Amino acid sequence: MHEMALCEGIIGIVEEEARKRAFAKVNVVCLEIGALSHVAPEALKFCFEAVAARTIARGARLEIVETPGTAWCMDCSRSVEIRQRYEPCPSCGGYHLQVTGGEEMRVRELEVD
Ligand SMILES: [Zn+2]
Repeated sequence: MHEMALCEGIIGIVEEEARKRAFAKVNVVCLEIGALSHVAPEALKFCFEAVAARTIARGARLEIVETPGTAWCMDCSRSVEIRQRYEPCPSCGGYHLQVTGGEEMRVRELEVD
């Protein structure tokens, strides 16, 4: 399952931070997910709880912030925001878009004790 692998990745980052910053408990994991990343926030939250149960992130809340997708419109020659892939340019309606951002997922912040 796609989300399961992602959660293991997140926990890996949290554990790495725990080693570096020497904290013992994680309260909140704030995650940024690009609108074009194909990640389902609900599925991710569900998996996170299961994966975190055996780790330092046990009981931590997962907060998800969705960041917009961005693309370069070759017709307008400028950067525009899109909500999903293969969407037309919101400015000119054209389809000559090249996705430049919004596909990534990253841990933005950890709230720890
Ligand atoms: Zn355009």
